Amino acid sequence: MEFHTLQAPTLNLLPLEAGLPHNSNFTESDRSAQNILNVFISLVHSFPTTEIFDSLLTSLSNHCRVLWTKDQETTAGFEKVKRKTLVLDMDETLIHSRLQEDVDSPAPFKINVPFENTDCIYYVYDRPHVCEFLATVAQWYDLVIFTASISDYADPIIDWLEREVKAKYPSSNPVIKSRYYRQHCTYYNGIFTKDLTQIECDLRDVALLDNSEFSFLINPENAIPIRSWTNDDENDLALHDLFAFLNALSHVEDVRSVLRSRSTSSGY
Ligand SMILES: [Mg+2]
Repeated sequence: MEFHTLQAPTLNLLPLEAGLPHNSNFTESDRSAQNILNVFISLVHSFPTTEIFDSLLTSLSNHCRVLWTKDQETTAGFEKVKRKTLVLDMDETLIHSRLQEDVDSPAPFKINVPFENTDCIYYVYDRPHVCEFLATVAQWYDLVIFTASISDYADPIIDWLEREVKAKYPSSNPVIKSRYYRQHCTYYNGIFTKDLTQIECDLRDVALLDNSEFSFLINPENAIPIRSWTNDDENDLALHDLFAFLNALSHVEDVRSVLRSRSTSSGY
């Protein structure tokens, strides 16, 4: 399969290229067809191997049947799936903080964190596109912060991020549904890892975005790894580049059916 042919898809190109049933009734005005094709296209771009694409087709086959057998005024678009929870790590995923301000890069936020009868000042930098990311994905997921940091450090930062999102996207609702901290982590062999069943007992409906592979040890099939950001790249696009994938993932029945393939192929 030549994936580069999907860069500028037409409504009937993808089914033909993918070897799927082609419905000649697709039209430019068929928003349902457009929506589901967008899902496929974004997934193809996120998983550019035939093997993984095949597994995605299997995962989404129920949705496909709805679309491809739709001929008159029957059910349009996706079958309803349960709204999912996206769990977000904080440090080096959404922000980076340090104890000394970068002389070339003034910190947009700083906090005092009490530590052993003194205050530590942390200079906090927001990852590029983080506000856009939070405002956007909050439309598709319930968002939860799960950090291995303590609440005295994390809460002011989360509050600040929420204020920033509200300032830039006034119509957005409060984006963070709940917060989990170090005391909620599982201490294992000297590291903090994260058990997602504390947040969502049905693992079909939860995914964790995190820069640390250790965080995924308990629920590896729910992992969305992201490269660490340490205020080292002002043009970082890692959050922005997840939009299409996360939009698509919110429509699948079981996130593990997609993320499992990703974790075994990337070997993170
Ligand atoms: Mg982290």
